[in-house]
Amino acid sequence: MRKKHHPDIKRSVAFIEENKAALKLLENISQPCHIWDEKHQLMYCNEASLKLFKIADREYFINNFSRFAPKYQPDGAHSMSSGDEKLDEAFKKGFLAFDWTHSTIEGEEFPCHVTLQRMTINEKLYLLASIKETRAVAVFSRDLRTENEMLREIYRRGNLLSTINQVAELLLRSNLEDFNKTLHQSLGMMAKTVDANRAYLWKNIKEKSGFYCTLYYEWTQEGFSSLKENSLQKLSYEEDLPNFLTTLQENQAINSLTRDLPGKERKWFTLCGTLSTLFIPIFVEMEFWGYLGFDNCEEEVVFTENEVSILRSGGLMIANALLHNEYLSNIQMTSRKLEEALKSAEEANNAKSDFLANMSHEMRTPLNAVIGLSELVLEENKVDLESRDKLEKVYNSGSLLLSLVNDILDISKIEAGKLELLYEEYELASMLNDVTSQNILKVGRKPIEFILDIDENLPGILCGDSRRIKQILSNLLSNAFKYTNQGKVILSVQGELEKSNQVRLTFTVEDTGIGISEEHLEKLFEDYTRFDLESQKGQEGTGLGLSITKRLVQLMEGDIRVTSQLGVGSKFSVEVCQGAKEGPALGAQAVNNLKNFIYTNNKRAELEHLPRIPLPNARVLVVDDNVTNLYVLQGMLKPYKMKVDCVTSGEEAIERIREEKVRYDAIFMDQMMPMMDGVCATRIIREEIGTDYAKNINIIAFTANATYGSEEMFLENGFQGFLSKPVEVLALDRIVRQWVQDKEKEEQLDRQSGLDEEKERREVKERQGGKGGDTTARMQNAKITGLSIEEGLRRFNGDVDIYKTVLECYVSNTPNILEAIKEVKKEGLKDCIVAIHGIKSSSYGIGANEIGEMAKDLEAAAKGESIEDVTIKILQFISKVEILIKEIKEMLYRISLGSPKKVKKTPDLLELKKIYLACKAYDMDGVDQAFSEIEKMEYEEDRELVGWLKDNIIRMNFMEIQERLDEEYGPFQDDVEC
Ligand code: ADP
Repeated sequence: MRKKHHPDIKRSVAFIEENKAALKLLENISQPCHIWDEKHQLMYCNEASLKLFKIADREYFINNFSRFAPKYQPDGAHSMSSGDEKLDEAFKKGFLAFDWTHSTIEGEEFPCHVTLQRMTINEKLYLLASIKETRAVAVFSRDLRTENEMLREIYRRGNLLSTINQVAELLLRSNLEDFNKTLHQSLGMMAKTVDANRAYLWKNIKEKSGFYCTLYYEWTQEGFSSLKENSLQKLSYEEDLPNFLTTLQENQAINSLTRDLPGKERKWFTLCGTLSTLFIPIFVEMEFWGYLGFDNCEEEVVFTENEVSILRSGGLMIANALLHNEYLSNIQMTSRKLEEALKSAEEANNAKSDFLANMSHEMRTPLNAVIGLSELVLEENKVDLESRDKLEKVYNSGSLLLSLVNDILDISKIEAGKLELLYEEYELASMLNDVTSQNILKVGRKPIEFILDIDENLPGILCGDSRRIKQILSNLLSNAFKYTNQGKVILSVQGELEKSNQVRLTFTVEDTGIGISEEHLEKLFEDYTRFDLESQKGQEGTGLGLSITKRLVQLMEGDIRVTSQLGVGSKFSVEVCQGAKEGPALGAQAVNNLKNFIYTNNKRAELEHLPRIPLPNARVLVVDDNVTNLYVLQGMLKPYKMKVDCVTSGEEAIERIREEKVRYDAIFMDQMMPMMDGVCATRIIREEIGTDYAKNINIIAFTANATYGSEEMFLENGFQGFLSKPVEVLALDRIVRQWVQDKEKEEQLDRQSGLDEEKERREVKERQGGKGGDTTARMQNAKITGLSIEEGLRRFNGDVDIYKTVLECYVSNTPNILEAIKEVKKEGLKDCIVAIHGIKSSSYGIGANEIGEMAKDLEAAAKGESIEDVTIKILQFISKVEILIKEIKEMLYRISLGSPKKVKKTPDLLELKKIYLACKAYDMDGVDQAFSEIEKMEYEEDRELVGWLKDNIIRMNFMEIQERLDEEYGPFQDDVEC
């Protein structure tokens, strides 16, 4: 036959592969068969065909089929063209039979009879060719009838196989919605292919009363009655089909004419007009599931074995599809129900969380008013004792309620998924410092030792949500202090570096407190859980702390664990991952600083009796751009009785050292200043001035950035030591003893120090208990939110006058700085950071820790955030500081009201001269001393001068002071003794 196209063996191979099962039937029959596709390509030949054509290589045969016929047929037709015409005709008509001459590979010709039957496989048309060698008819004397029957069977088989393939495809593609329709269609297709008028599916059910089968699906050809119509829907195997059960259970088909069936069964089939029937059992997972049935109501024919076996696989496919469908609809139903349940649970939960969040938010406003107003009235100190007691209760209850509301807000935020974690850089030391300093106060008077165990190799800068980490640690630490009466509380911070700049931190808070019973441990992290309320009487708490802690830890994908023993103590461990910045580790210095802080706090009481060595011969220079900071250090150095000079820039300090008019024992140099920072100024002093004095003078770095160890950096840069701001009394004392004290000069005085110290304290007391006693009491009783007067006073050895001066300096100088940072521009950000840095330390210095903290955050923000964000924060910051300043001013005013002063005509000229000379010598101490004398009196004239002097002394406008005094009260000579 002629090839229209180049034969494509790949297509044939794919076809054979796809239809392996169906072709198997053709493979084993003795009749030579071929399959052609619509492009006239031979797709397949069976074994018998290869034998007939005497060739073993199937591929070669398929590829070169045209060679297996003479060029011309006996009637003269061209074999290839004629072959093509025959194929076209067969595709058109569906069936064609003709005689043909073929040849073997050696060219030996032989006559054949060829039949072509059209069929569909996988929705495509093919021709099944059957070749009968007529030369051999005589030899085998085949019965033509048998031959025809065989052919008919081959067609039926081919068709059936193709139907089963289509059914499989339909079922596979069907979805839940159209499954019934597909099943109906599939049964119909199968029935038509085997000439049945009815096809049905029965499913078994086991009931207590017996074993039944029920009609599951049915297809009936038009014009024939359905089983349903014949009321055949449920049959009992025992009663109605007693002879079928065993056969079917043995997985054998029943293939019979109705008249040959046993009595009981015959009855049913006769009833439905069935002449012959086929029952194919279906087994699913080794269980007898039911059966597939086909009825012929027109002819008495039994189905062939081949048909039965093909239909059996059809039955299996249908059963599997049914199961799959059931499974799918179950899943769909369950997931729909689940979805609905989840949705309504979520809605309910969201509604609850929203409600709580809104309520908490709304409650905070009135609560703040309750707390704020009661605080205000308490501050005013105008209420009688009984009312005061009640008001304090209002204040305390309000504060407790506020913390509860805040906790609820956190919980509902977390539940509503609205709590988002920040990811920003933070200093580990600073975070730990905040947490420990906030919580250490909770020790109260209990004999508890607070131990810090911090791995100094941890990274200094971490990334994560430091506020939430603080919250976690604060909850654990405050519980430890709350539930421990004596012994120890240990905070341990360890970590392991993980790949890609991550550190796994383990925080452990261990206490020797009341412990938690095993039964309570299980419920410990549940909301609103508090145990042993009887034994915890008096302990404030909401039972939400640990629940929030756990949720925060989970939000950070961390882990929290607890072990505890009743009466022995508890140990909480939290593991969280944080980003780790490259850079210096925390370091021994920072760890020591943190430990010292705790130490200092624990030893507060001792501090008050710290003996200061009087150093009247010593003279130091303090360099800081922030005037309040100068006053703070000057005030703190006062008990040492040394001379303290101050300058406000690095350049001025260099000048002082270069001039060498005065020889200083030490310089306290601020690190961060505008124009020239402390490191730069120190370098110039050491390297450029060139004198021995400049090379060797003790320079102490005075810095607010020393939360973590930068001592090495300072030492490398020519400093002898460093003091971190806010300056701790103990740290200052260590520095003074090491770097300012001149052993020889002071030896004599040192022996007397105890006495002097005692005398000094008496003096301060007398001063404050006497005329100024009111001032002291007023100062001590005053309450300003965000200002710890107690802490401020402690810094200045309890000296109210010094503290007052420092506060005056703060309220007078800070507004100028605020003004300067108000309209910050990107270019001016660096100066702005320096200014904020200054406010940070001066605020800490006076005990305004909240503002100090704010300034600290702002300083960090100014280094990392956008200028717009920083501007907003600066404005918020400014308004806070302004409120504080206003309140301090009011307090200072109230204090001054109560101190009646003697009245004099004009200020004492001698004191004014002292001020003039002290200004000239930059001797702040001298200026202060003389001015305090002037301030002791009220003046009938020159009242304005006193105010002016005060303002300018604080601003260190020494030149202007000299000019005015000299002009209006001078000329002054340099020979007045100060
Ligand atoms: P609360 O506000 O009551 O402290 P928490 O959720 O923080 O709420 O703690 C829940 C309860 O767990 C506390 O009321 C207390 O009974 C117990 N608990 C928590 N921490 C400790 C601890 N360190 N020692 C003993 N009991 C503790």
